[in-house]
Amino acid sequence: MVRLAPRAREEIVNDAGRPGPESRRSFGSIQGIVQGVGFRPFVYQLARRCGLTGYVVNTPVGVDVEVEGPKEDLERFFAALRDEHPPLAHISAIERIDDLPPEHRARFEIRESRTGEARSALISPDVSVCGDCLRELDDPRDRRYRYPFINCTNCGPRYTIIQDIPYDRPLTTMGRFVMCAACRAEYEDPEDRRFHAQPNACPRCGPRLALHDAAGNPLACGDPLEETIRRLRAGEVLAVKGLGGFHLAVDAARHDAVSRLRRRKHREEKPFALMVAGLEAARSLARIAPADAEALTSIQRPIVLVEQRDGHGLSPEVAPRNRLFGLMLPYTPLHHLLLREGGFRALVMTSGNLSEEPITIADEDAFLRLRGVADAFLVHDRDIHLRSDDSIVRVVGGVPRQIRRSRGFVPVPVFLHEDLSALPPVLAVGGELKNTVCLTKENRAFVSQHVGDMENLETLDFFRLTVSHLERILEIEPRVLACDLHPDYLGSRYARERGGLPRVEVQHHHAHIVSVIAENRVQGPVIGIALDGTGLGDDGTVWGGEILLADPVSYRRAAWLQPAPLPGGDAAARFPRRMALSYLHRAFGEGLFDLAVPFVRDLDPKEAELVVQMVSRGVRSPLTSSCGRLFDAVSALLGIRGENRYEGQAPMELEAAQDEAETGRYPWETERLGDGRVLMTDPLLRAVVEDLAAGLSPARISRRFHNTLVRMLAEMCRALRDETGLHEVALGGGSFQNVTLFTGLHRALTEDGFTVYSHALVPTNDGGLSLGQAVSAAARFAQMGSGLEI
Ligand SMILES: [Zn+2]
Ligand SMILES: [Zn+2]
Repeated sequence: MVRLAPRAREEIVNDAGRPGPESRRSFGSIQGIVQGVGFRPFVYQLARRCGLTGYVVNTPVGVDVEVEGPKEDLERFFAALRDEHPPLAHISAIERIDDLPPEHRARFEIRESRTGEARSALISPDVSVCGDCLRELDDPRDRRYRYPFINCTNCGPRYTIIQDIPYDRPLTTMGRFVMCAACRAEYEDPEDRRFHAQPNACPRCGPRLALHDAAGNPLACGDPLEETIRRLRAGEVLAVKGLGGFHLAVDAARHDAVSRLRRRKHREEKPFALMVAGLEAARSLARIAPADAEALTSIQRPIVLVEQRDGHGLSPEVAPRNRLFGLMLPYTPLHHLLLREGGFRALVMTSGNLSEEPITIADEDAFLRLRGVADAFLVHDRDIHLRSDDSIVRVVGGVPRQIRRSRGFVPVPVFLHEDLSALPPVLAVGGELKNTVCLTKENRAFVSQHVGDMENLETLDFFRLTVSHLERILEIEPRVLACDLHPDYLGSRYARERGGLPRVEVQHHHAHIVSVIAENRVQGPVIGIALDGTGLGDDGTVWGGEILLADPVSYRRAAWLQPAPLPGGDAAARFPRRMALSYLHRAFGEGLFDLAVPFVRDLDPKEAELVVQMVSRGVRSPLTSSCGRLFDAVSALLGIRGENRYEGQAPMELEAAQDEAETGRYPWETERLGDGRVLMTDPLLRAVVEDLAAGLSPARISRRFHNTLVRMLAEMCRALRDETGLHEVALGGGSFQNVTLFTGLHRALTEDGFTVYSHALVPTNDGGLSLGQAVSAAARFAQMGSGLEI
């Protein structure tokens, strides 16, 4: 292992004058992401600017600062500390003690840590290259001109290169590179932007690019970057090693190249993400609202879902039958060079994997797994320790909301309500699809990066790696395990096999609602509306259209969508037309075959007969109250989509098809069952069929359907408020990615006097489940103590 110069150096002093007699002394303890992000040099320079004396020092939990000077200068200092902190720093709390007797120090200094570099301080996520580095990248006189790995304390890789803590170069994948004299001098100079920048490097001493052919053999070429650009222009598929994994890149304007990529990647219709050089390029392709622009240019640089412009000029294969583009701006120096020097309007930059496998991170692995997909590989010798996909957000109601939370955001914690601080540390293993895991410590919940669908061994391996890595770098030893009720989920199996710890099973939709509660730092009870595709209910049926009266500990199922049989079980999610048959059979019985609508006329008689037999006899047809399946059914019934090529496609196209001017809606009924209510959707389906038979357009029917759901759910909330006095509503579950449903219901409830909580920081889809599981398990464990099954 490379040894770095010892940390102990002479104290660094500034030349601030000795404070006058009216000076006061304040002490501040700062918590958050304040180490490895240039925080101490920032404090040092700020103190000097304010003319203060004192010191700054790393502690095991953050940074302590003591400042002395006139009161107004102290206030100026603390205000600037909050407002101007370095871009990667994230202050979660500042505790201040003021009016201490002055000690008349002569200067301000950066002190060595009393207890060694902090181990439990927070680690920064990976973030995009900063403006200062970009200027150097473009400056022919700079020694890092066109250097694809330029970074500083304000930018660059963190989470994906950290192998262990403390965050120090030998414990990162930069450990094998020995800094040259020039880089070392920057690293050791507190006045320098690269003071303690662990990944600091230059063309002399740092990582380098290399190009390999389709078989993985090194290609002799002068400039790998130029050769990559030449090949992309020629329509080739390039595997490009990035920050958190490989991308597969093609020129998005070349139809032949995009089709080739789709064919080779076995990805039928799911949209590809695009990278564009800057905001101007983004605006030429899509409608960019100010909040979209803010999200696109944020230091996290997520993929932002935005509405396409007509005549955008890119291959229609980029996002077939979809009115959205997923756009991102360059976030590594390499991306900047590729986009700018290549002059591409847009590059497809999709995860370097075959469909549904985790993204590839190691060169050798890429050569094997992407063989036959990539025509060449642009790699480098800085290893990626932990994969992290591009994050995806969508701005809804002016707020950027996570759809996939990974690179740039992880491992920033979600800060919980203070009352949860005393709870034991929990590991929650998440759900089966869009899996994430969550570890809690005091009032912080660390939700992992996107792990993926737990359907194959590769994803399970990645899941295990993520759990052990997070436990190590966050130094959390869980005392409780939380998992889903479903015994066959791979996460649930992992929790059982791990053993030794109390295990708490959390019902899927309860977890969705607790996740919303936790993110919004409220305690409940709330009226929780959980709408999604699938989750095992506590009665053994499949839930997905639920209204729960819930707090973190418990819930009561107050209302749910009228159940329908799922022909073939989970496989029904793939075939909306089979769901449509199931719902029609529920509403019309055998009479469905006489309905004078195109859907029935166009049925494949064999399939239809089989499905009707299954649902009428209850063969492999569990009941479900799923909201997602209801959307599937209506989408198929309207002739919009009979088969899902990717998850959620039918509901997405149903929403996209709607005529927003339509104000009509359909009838429904409410039936009491025990202490709950069933929201009967048979009347709704009959009315849809009537409209179809009368020749009403699918666009108007789609809008009426959305309007109906909004009204039905809002009225149910009002009834429950009358009954219980609860006036807070939490909206959770993947169906709330439907903007029409979400904003319609949000508005209706708000206008009716409800306080409405929803997700922004973690996904409303199953990516947010682990947070809810963790908080529910912690709360239940605290209440029930050791009476839990081990
Ligand atoms: Zn920088
Ligand atoms: Zn160097």
